[in-house]
Amino acid sequence: IFKDYVSGFLKESDMQVINGTLKLKLPEGSNGIVVKNLYLSCDPYMRNRMTRAEGPNIFTSFTPCSPLTGFGVAKVLDSSHPNFKKGDLIWGTTGWEEYSVITELEGLIKIQHTDVPLSYYTGILGMPGLSAYVGFYEVCSPKKGEYVFISAASGAVGQLVGQFAKLMGCYVVGSAGSKEKVDLLKRKFGFDDAFNYKEETDLDAALKRYFPEGIDIYFENVGGKMLDAVLLNMKDHGRISVCGLISQYNLDQPEGVQNLMCLIYKRIHMKGFVVTDYYNIYPKFLDVMLSYIREGKIMYVEDIAEGLESGPAALVGLYSGRNVGKQVVLIARE
Ligand code: NDP
Repeated sequence: IFKDYVSGFLKESDMQVINGTLKLKLPEGSNGIVVKNLYLSCDPYMRNRMTRAEGPNIFTSFTPCSPLTGFGVAKVLDSSHPNFKKGDLIWGTTGWEEYSVITELEGLIKIQHTDVPLSYYTGILGMPGLSAYVGFYEVCSPKKGEYVFISAASGAVGQLVGQFAKLMGCYVVGSAGSKEKVDLLKRKFGFDDAFNYKEETDLDAALKRYFPEGIDIYFENVGGKMLDAVLLNMKDHGRISVCGLISQYNLDQPEGVQNLMCLIYKRIHMKGFVVTDYYNIYPKFLDVMLSYIREGKIMYVEDIAEGLESGPAALVGLYSGRNVGKQVVLIARE
């Protein structure tokens, strides 16, 4: 249960796990489904939904005293909609609860391929995977041999962007918040180099060390001080894909960025994107990703917390970097 609008850093106590009885009946005359939730996805944008929506915002706020909602994988138990039947597996927006009645079916996608773990549809084959794909290929216009930097590089999106860039023949460096994550980037995901940004007192100097010739492409996941340092190190005509700004999500007053003049001096192309605008390319993306996974061309690391009661800690952990890889909450195995 989302208790009430949050200000400042999200805490576990902003949510509550309760036991109760759910009415699993579809409303009379509705076109809906009843599902058993299997996996829930912890995604950084969920913090944005915990603030009362005002100003430019693409998210609707959660309703206080109601269950959170978010991306998940679920099994259909009952359906009054012609496109879904009992036994179907789906991914899309569901409730943070063991069972849900879903009447908003837009954006729900039926899972056809089950030779990969179902949890993958919360990540590599779901919303974060598509974000990595469009944010890199569509926004960055990458070319072989270019220098690519990725922040929050070991997370759900970052680990995939780095591997796409390596497949493209780029030189790839990532930043992450622990030695364990830095090792993962270099050893498992094949990044050319990686560093722990928490150990760097001067991010500008660190980037100059890793990119003496400058950065062609920056895949932005964090914002704040990192963005400022990156702007100083971009090459002329560089591209910045603004996927997320997680360092800002828990701040009541977002930090200012100092070095925006670099956008002009260096003719940098900086573009934000919203993954849901690209759902039309999901079938093509799914084909590509499934073959990458089956051929072992892409590695993928998940961090799976067990049980709905572990959900609040798992979600809060995103904002301190507790997760190693894509954070998922396992509710039930079918
Ligand atoms: P991750 O799996 O990467 O988890 C979040 C990670 O962010 C943490 O593990 C932590 O890693 C890092 N982090 C947390 N707080 C800070 C901070 N203050 N400063 C720097 N790093 C921090 O998340 P995702 O891969 O799911 O998401 C990555 C980004 O992409 C987010 O900003 C998210 O909002 C955005 N996004 C945007 C979409 C779009 O449509 N534009 C769609 C999906 C995601 P570490 O230990 O390395 O610090």
